[in-house]
Formats: sequence, structure tokens, C-alpha cells
Amino acid sequence: MSVDTVPTPSSASVPTASQPSPDAVPPEPAAPSPTLPGTPPPRSHIRLTSHAGGFGALPIQWGAATAAERGPVVGTTTKRAHRNVIGTHSGSYSVYRALAVAAGALSPHHKADLTNTSPTDAIGPYPQWSEPGRIVSLDPWGAVVADAFATELAAGYDIRPTIAITKAHVILPEVIEALQSGRLKADGKFLTAGGAAMVTKAAIEPVWYLPAVAQRFGCSETDLRRVLFEETGGMYPELVTRSDLEVFLPPIGGQTLYIFGNARDLANPEVELTARIHDECNGSDVFGSDICTCRPYLTHAIEECIQGAQRGGVGLIAYSRKEGRALGEVTKFLVYNARKRQVGGDTADQYFARTECVAGVQDMRFQELMPDVFHWLGIRKIHRLVSMSNMKFDAITGSGIEIGTRVNIPDELIPADARVEMDAKMAAGYFTPGAVPDAEELKKAKGRGLDQ
Ligand SMILES: [Zn+2]
Repeated sequence: MSVDTVPTPSSASVPTASQPSPDAVPPEPAAPSPTLPGTPPPRSHIRLTSHAGGFGALPIQWGAATAAERGPVVGTTTKRAHRNVIGTHSGSYSVYRALAVAAGALSPHHKADLTNTSPTDAIGPYPQWSEPGRIVSLDPWGAVVADAFATELAAGYDIRPTIAITKAHVILPEVIEALQSGRLKADGKFLTAGGAAMVTKAAIEPVWYLPAVAQRFGCSETDLRRVLFEETGGMYPELVTRSDLEVFLPPIGGQTLYIFGNARDLANPEVELTARIHDECNGSDVFGSDICTCRPYLTHAIEECIQGAQRGGVGLIAYSRKEGRALGEVTKFLVYNARKRQVGGDTADQYFARTECVAGVQDMRFQELMPDVFHWLGIRKIHRLVSMSNMKFDAITGSGIEIGTRVNIPDELIPADARVEMDAKMAAGYFTPGAVPDAEELKKAKGRGLDQ
């Protein structure tokens, strides 16, 4: 069946994607036409992808042992017949790409020039990459597409990396303070006298293999596809119409890794690994808001990672874009108000209840997919896990990774207003080497009021 059919005269008169009737895919132009900023793109019909018919689409064998057997993930919109996934690249930023095309600032046919973009550090391949069910939410070959799929790229397939790896110096006031107070020592290798820590960093976009993601969440693939379709307002019709497409590039934030020391050492269980998996908290991480312990915990973990590297080990911070327990900042700020305005003030015994009142659940981070990144790095053992979270601990150990010591945040790093959160978490079973607060303790108002 041909896929290049029926360009309709105007976007106002075509069926919407939720009523897929004529499969309208425009012919690919021989060469991209130049587009000037401010000029609308020369497209006047909707392109549907909800019907099979991708001539030339390469198969994906998820979990295959080599890149060649696995096949490339092709989420391009430039050559739609080549697509072998649902959704498109760049996670939530795919919407900005669409805006850039709509505004005429970007040609929809632009292909990335990958010259000189290859990773600074080689990661893998590791046995975990092809162990059944180990990695289901990222593409282990995502950093090396330019090499692994050079032939396909040369043949005109628009294959984009979903992982990028580079080098950086990170400079944090807390690390400089640790240097000044003598907790950290500069060595010129991992940490400069000026307080810059040398890191390798990696950015990872989500790539979901739907059958195995469904398994992780204990639901059927059909139910997962239907609910993803419905709860995104019908954003991806292929979820329910294209069961042959098993890989989904979800429009959500990804992960960033900061590695202190040699990235290859992460896979060596003999080398001491200090690690933290940190979920995004813009208010604290970036702006220093004192209602939670996120930034103090993050910078404490970075200090631990630097010390670990200096002891001959390696450190890892995995930073996930899951703002406000993946509920988002609007919900988070609503909860702050509800906590501080409730009768009796901001108390630990109501901490989780207030979140549940607003959001319907206490937490949407669902750590089920989180350990994938550790398996991508070849990790078998985390010697020092800088985290109090039982959900993270259980997810990591449940995925077959051994954890040695759990490192909690030192008391002196907890801001006064964050005591409510800490007490509530400890009472809920989060890891603490100290005393767990009792019911009376939890009833005491410890958070500031809104006008204080
Ligand atoms: Zn926070």
C-alpha cells in the first residue's frame, strides 16, 4: 500500500488524528526547500502515522546482543516511512521543535550533522544490554548511532542519538565551602584548588520498549497503550492502532548523569562506587528553597562522590527530570499552601496526606524504570548509596544490583523548614541510622507559616 496519498487542500478541513481516515503523508521533497524565519512551512495537510505502511522501516529486535541485530531506533519525522517507533525524539522538547517548524524557523526536513559529536567516553557494551528485561526505558546503543549505524545513515536513514556524553567542570558553592573548611582536598585531578570538579556527563532521552515497560508496572501491554493514549488526550494514535510498533519515545524529561572518576570503573564491582539517584526539584536544587532537603542532599552526594573518586573509586549522580515527585511544580506549590494553611500548621503527620489530597497519590515517580540507567552503565554493585529512599533502594536491589552502605544526609545540612519532610519520611520507613520520630513528635508544627 502506498503511503504517499491525498494531500488535502487546507488544514482546517482535514480529519483530526483521532479520526484516522485518509492516510495523508506528503511526498518527501528531493531536497529541503530553504525556509526563512517567519515564513510558514509549506505544508497544508495533516500527516498521519496511525496506519501501517512504512516501506523501508528497519526492524527493532529489543535486547539483541549487537547494535546491528537490534537495529536503529528511527523516530524521525523527515522520512516518515522509515519510522519504527511511536513518538519522536527529544522528549518534551519535541513540542518546541514543532513550534520552531510552525514558526518557519526550522525546516521540517533538517537532518542533524553529527560530525564531532561522538561520546568522550565509551560506555559498554555490557552483558546487561542484552539480558532479558534488564533495560526497557532507554536505548543502550543511543550514544553510538553514528558509528553503529553508519551504513544506514549513509543510506539516508535519519537516525538520531538518544544519548550524548561529554566532559565538564562543575563548580558549586557547597564544594568550595567544603574545600575551605577542609572536608575536601584539591588534587588537581578530580578537584581543582578553585573548587571545580572534573566530570563526565551524559544526557539520556527516554526510549520505552512497551511490552517490557508494561511488565514492570504489572499491567498488560494493551492496557498500558490504551491508558497512555487516553491520558495524553489521544496524542499518539499509534499506541492503539499500531501494535507492530513496540517502541515509544515518550514526551517526558530524561536523565542526566554526572560521573566523577573513570566511567569504565562503574562496571567494575571491585572499584568502590558512590552513587545517588536524584529526582529533580527546581525550587531547592536551583533556587535554594528551604522547604525540602533536595539541594543539600544533592551537594552532599557530590561531595561524597568527589571523596570516593579521590579514594580510587568512582562517583555517580543520576539526575532524573521528575519534578515534584513527578507531579510537577504546580501541584507541588498547591501542596505547600495546603500544608501551611491547614489547621495546626505544617506538621509531619499530615505531610503525605496533603499531597494525596491535591494529587490523588503521594508520589508518581515510580522507581520501576530507574535502575535501567545503572544497567546501561554495567553496574553490578553500589558500595555507597547516598539516599534515604526505600523505594529507590528496593527498585535497585530488586533489579539485581547489590547495595553496600546507605549514606544518609548529615543532620546539620537539613534546613529548619525541611524538618517536616524529614520527619514524615523517616516515620514512613525511609532509611535513617537515628531515632524514628513517634506519633506525638509528628504532630508538632515545624514548618514556617506562609507569612513568616
Ligand atoms: Zn525538594
